Amino acid sequence: MADNESTSKWNPKGGAATLYTCHKFDCDFSTYEKLPKCPECGFPLYDAATFKVFGVLLAVCGVLLAAVGIGIIVLLTFREMKSEFGAVVIYGLLSALALAGIALIAGGLRQAVTGLKSTWFLALFVILLLAIGILAAVLRFVAGSF
Ligand SMILES: [Zn+2]
Repeated sequence: MADNESTSKWNPKGGAATLYTCHKFDCDFSTYEKLPKCPECGFPLYDAATFKVFGVLLAVCGVLLAAVGIGIIVLLTFREMKSEFGAVVIYGLLSALALAGIALIAGGLRQAVTGLKSTWFLALFVILLLAIGILAAVLRFVAGSF
């Protein structure tokens, strides 16, 4: 690998060596060597600049998710719900969606600034998405009752 290629692109001053960190969510492997993939789990390794780009993308996705969740909540407050229970479930789902978006924004921005993997924010995002999935599944079962 042409090492000066990466240093000139991401590190024009040619200062400290580039640290590559494994992309896998729960893998902590990192190295200063430019390896094609992580020797521990086989996922790709990225440098801080790449993690920053991903961080920006995560934050943008978070903004979209939060906007959808909050937007629908705002729209629904102008309509009458068929039942209290239905309202609680739907607001719960939308709030979880908005929270997931906010977690993604926070994690993405932190990653964009530091270039470090935002493991905990992404974990929170995944947990919220799972919660939404479970709630949505429950909603399907009880959909006839309201
Ligand atoms: Zn790994």
